[in-house]
Amino acid sequence: MRRDKLITILILLGLVAGAIVGQILHGTVEDQIATGDAWMSIGKLVLVKPLMLLVIPLVFLSVIVGTTSIGDPSRLGLVGGSTVLYYFGTMLMAVILGAVLVTAIGPGENLPPETVASLQADGQSEYKDFTTSSDGQSNDKAKAIKRAEDDKLGGAWMSILNQIIPSNVFAELAAGRTLGIIVFALLLGLALAACGESGAPAVAVFQSLFSGVMKLVLWVLWLTPVGVFLLVTGTIAKIGLGAISGPLGSYMITVVLGLAIHAFIILPLVMFIFRRVNPYRFMWNMRKALMTAFGTDSSSATLPVTIETAIEEGGVSRKSANFVLPLGATINMDGTALYEAVAVVFMFQLWGIPLELGDMVIVVITATLAAVGAAGIPSAGLVTMVIVVAAVNTSLASRGVPPLPLEAIGVIIGVDRILDMCRTVVNVWGDAVGAKIITTLTPDQPDDTNTLRMSN
Ligand code: ASP
Repeated sequence: MRRDKLITILILLGLVAGAIVGQILHGTVEDQIATGDAWMSIGKLVLVKPLMLLVIPLVFLSVIVGTTSIGDPSRLGLVGGSTVLYYFGTMLMAVILGAVLVTAIGPGENLPPETVASLQADGQSEYKDFTTSSDGQSNDKAKAIKRAEDDKLGGAWMSILNQIIPSNVFAELAAGRTLGIIVFALLLGLALAACGESGAPAVAVFQSLFSGVMKLVLWVLWLTPVGVFLLVTGTIAKIGLGAISGPLGSYMITVVLGLAIHAFIILPLVMFIFRRVNPYRFMWNMRKALMTAFGTDSSSATLPVTIETAIEEGGVSRKSANFVLPLGATINMDGTALYEAVAVVFMFQLWGIPLELGDMVIVVITATLAAVGAAGIPSAGLVTMVIVVAAVNTSLASRGVPPLPLEAIGVIIGVDRILDMCRTVVNVWGDAVGAKIITTLTPDQPDDTNTLRMSN
């Protein structure tokens, strides 16, 4: 059996076994949260940390290799411009779809008052747990939420701009801020390409290092089935599959329905329009990355697998994969954008605060921005959602309508991990579709020597 086929089957087994074991644990153990956390922390050690270890070197090297192989600045401008246009276009489509669905379905409307009261009360304590560390102090998430609330929209733009124009590349590398790393790698790649002969030795070194890191990716891939099993077991042990029939059921169904429409109809349509190839075959070919996204709940951690799978199985050109996928894992989050719109409107519905068309426009714009600003890690969307809530609250204040309390987020925290796994799959799928489309602009030449084929 081929290595890829075997790994794919093992990952699938890991996912299914994780769901079964997790559900058994959920029904049998007393402290579901502690049990789930324990499984998840082993899963992080086994899979998420090894993958994360590769992400920063990989982003740096792959963007340099991608940029130098495209070489010509005007072509690079065309590729970069098309990529960013595709990313924002598809994110806007996702967010509008989310806003329309949540308004049509109204998962937070017409619930019995006692259900609303108990959801709100549970949400308060969930929010407290989410933002408090074990020693009773505010944790990093609390600080990030406070910052997002204080900064509002202007601050969110400034933070993205600050990352795009870094002043110390080593600080960006150390902090793992991929946007700054991408910008530096892009500029260095362009400069090396412009140097011609004198830049060639450095280019060769980066290509060789890139091959080495990709070899590491192939090794780490063998950890994926076990890691995915542990992570899924932990998640289901904590939340339980029965959550879908609870009071948050229709909210969860709205998110999953939106994600499914975007992943199975909208993105394939976009891909077919630009590429005229079978999008579902491509989806099937990308399954290893999509399953890893589901298990790890992190598009950053999945990036090494996404690049490997896109090149080796998805028929994406190396130039496109190296350049488009790292950028996508950083800024393109269709699933997160859609989810933020649904979640925010759901919370306003639950608190009985009516939103007007103008407020919905604010939701659409800020949810897109909040998704761009979200890191590709678990729960990132939950934190950046505060930007959307704060922006809508400001608009409500101008009409004298009372704001939504931030603690409202607590209501959806309990079921967030499962939704996060689903939206991360759509985030990675959106990146992959982008890379496939951009392959048209940057096909690999048969004599391309600057990216080395990975041997098994
Ligand atoms: N977990 C998501 C990702 O890594 C981000 C989020 O929506 O929280 O893509």
